[in-house]
Amino acid sequence: MKGEDIVSAKEKVNIDWENLRFDYIKTDFRYISRWKDGKWDEGELSEDNMLSISEASTALHYGQQCFEGLKAYRTKDGDIQLFRPDENSKRMAVSCRRLLMPEVPEDKFIEACKRVVKANEQYVPPYGTGATLYLRPFVIGVGHNVGVKPAPEYIFCIFCVPVGPYFKGGLAPVNFNVAEYDRAAPYGTGGVKVGGNYAASLLPHEKAVKAGFADCIYLDPLTHTKIEEVGAANFFGITKDNKFITPQSESILPSITKYSLMHIAKEYLGMEVEERDVLVDKLDEFAEAGACGTAAVITPIGGIEYKGKMHVFFSETEVGPVTHKLYDTLCGIQIGDIEAPKGWIVKVG
Ligand SMILES: *Cc1c(COP(=O)(O)O)cnc(C)c1O
Repeated sequence: MKGEDIVSAKEKVNIDWENLRFDYIKTDFRYISRWKDGKWDEGELSEDNMLSISEASTALHYGQQCFEGLKAYRTKDGDIQLFRPDENSKRMAVSCRRLLMPEVPEDKFIEACKRVVKANEQYVPPYGTGATLYLRPFVIGVGHNVGVKPAPEYIFCIFCVPVGPYFKGGLAPVNFNVAEYDRAAPYGTGGVKVGGNYAASLLPHEKAVKAGFADCIYLDPLTHTKIEEVGAANFFGITKDNKFITPQSESILPSITKYSLMHIAKEYLGMEVEERDVLVDKLDEFAEAGACGTAAVITPIGGIEYKGKMHVFFSETEVGPVTHKLYDTLCGIQIGDIEAPKGWIVKVG
């Protein structure tokens, strides 16, 4: 009987893998664990995609919540694998500490990722479609509380959705403008993955889209002279002498994709790599530029509009050769076609 259930569940999944966008689809199971009286419970898989929480939860009023994003990939052999989930776990722990939330131990985090992927196996897109299964872990403060203080209870949850490219078109250049807003403050929470940063970015994002851009670029909040983030992705540029450059700042969210690309640029492509200031009025130094992140993967930046002038990097329609090589190598590693550095791949066995 159990066997039949699984077969019928598989038959239910009728997804047009090649045309997936970055949209919510209810998958069969999500993982939920609750923290109470100083400890996390065992955690369980649930078919219910609704959370019932106190109206006085700190996550609802004071933004006491953080999240992560990572993907499961189907290899040529049909295996399923995760890309650097230990890094997501470590970063989520940093976010939790910043907001006085309890950390999720790394083994619990990775085990939960594997359980969610396994339980939703039929939603992991086939090899070669370009689609992947996106995992969204999060921690929220819940329980009855009105004053501004940490919540008495927490929920750690992971759900998943099959997704295609985040920006329309996949590996095709898109344009950005420079926001007149900041997404984070100096010494604020820009360096941690918390919802408040995203709430602050909704209006600038909408304005950028209305003006015809894919998203906006955020400058450093102190001097407004240096590039920090490209929407919800990190920035990189390839200088005319073939160096991989990416900005350094405490208010940039440390992208795992970015650090992976720094390694790939150096070790796989033999490039020099630098993490340093990127001045918005010195974009001439770059032959190519891109945005990177789990959702964005690599999105080539066609041009950036700043103070009414459009600066085009490589081309507004073509992908630069170095950006292309970085993309092919990163994706090759993620889907198992190219050998990964030690520890980057975790099989969902
Ligand atoms: C999540 C995120 C990124 C990308 O990080 P990855 O680990 O590469 O997915 C970049 N910028 C912001 C603001 C983010 O929230």
